[in-house]
Amino acid sequence: MLIFKKVADLRHWLDQQTLPVGFAPTMGALHAGHLELIHLAKTDGCLAVASIFVNPTQFNDPKDLEKYPRTPEKDAELLIGAGCDVLFMPPVEEVYPPGQDLTIDLDFGLLDTVMEGEFRPGHFLGMATVVNRLLDIVRPQKLYMGQKDYQQLSIVRDMIRQLNLPVELIMCPTVREPDGLAMSSRNVRLSPEMRAAAPVIHQTLQWAKTALEADVSREEIQAGAMDKLRAAGLRPEYFELVDGFTLAPTPSKGAIASMQESGAGHGIVACTAAFAGEVRLIDNLVLVAGR
Ligand code: AMP
Repeated sequence: MLIFKKVADLRHWLDQQTLPVGFAPTMGALHAGHLELIHLAKTDGCLAVASIFVNPTQFNDPKDLEKYPRTPEKDAELLIGAGCDVLFMPPVEEVYPPGQDLTIDLDFGLLDTVMEGEFRPGHFLGMATVVNRLLDIVRPQKLYMGQKDYQQLSIVRDMIRQLNLPVELIMCPTVREPDGLAMSSRNVRLSPEMRAAAPVIHQTLQWAKTALEADVSREEIQAGAMDKLRAAGLRPEYFELVDGFTLAPTPSKGAIASMQESGAGHGIVACTAAFAGEVRLIDNLVLVAGR
C-alpha cells in the first residue's frame, strides 16, 4: 500500500493509473466497518483509496476533537490487510491551503437542519466541505460511505446532485458487533458499564420496526424508544422516524400505507443519537426499505 501525505504526490501517482478509483474517506481509528468500504471498492474492481483526516471543521465540540482516537500505525496495518491500494493522510494545510476559503455554499434544506443538524450545529457544513475537497483531490469514480451515518450520506448525495459531481455514491450497510452495537471509532472510549448498556440502541431500533409494522403512532414510538434508552442508563438526544430520502418526519399514523400509496418508494428510517456516559453514539435502522 502506498501512503501519500501531499496532494501533488497523490495526484501525480493517480494520473498514471488506468483502473477506476474507489474512495473511502475516514477519520481513522479504523474498525471492520471502515474496512468493509475497502472490500466493496475492491469487489467492484476499483483501485481502493482510503483517506484518514480528522477534519477539525466538522467538530462543533472542541473536546470531542481533542479526544477523537488516533491510531495511524494500526490503521495502516488494517488497510494493508484489507487490500487497500493507497492511503492518503494529509496534514491540515494540504486539505485547507492557507488563505483559501473552500467552504461550500449550498442549501441542503431539511437535510442538514433536522436530527444531527439540530444537535451539532455547523457539523454538516464542515463535513460536506471536506468531502467536496477530498473528491476534488482524489477524483474517484465511486465514493464509498457507510449507512451508519445515514444523514451524512443523504447530504453527500444531495451535494453530488447539486454540484453535478461525476461520482457514484455507494452505501455500505452498517457493520455491527455481535451484540448489535454499530461499530464506531468512539466505542473504544466507552466505560465497561456503558459498553454493556450500548446494545440497547440497536434493540430499540428493532423494537421501533416492530411497532411501526403494528401501526403504533410515530409519537408513541418516539416516546417509547426514548424511555427504553433512558431506562438502560443512556441519555438520548433524539429518536426520529423519517422519510428515507427527504428526512422529513413520517406521518403520525399509517406511515407504511402512506408510503406505499405515494409510490415514491423512499422507505422509512429510524435515526437516533444518545450519550453513553461521555460518548455520543448515533445509529439508525431502515424500517421499511425504499426502492
Ligand atoms: P468516520 O471515520 O467515522 O468518519 O467514518 C468513515 C466512513 O466509514 C463513513 O462513510 C462512515 O459512515 C463509515 N462507517 C463508520 N462506521 C461504520 C460501520 N459500523 N459500518 C459501516 N460503515 C461505517
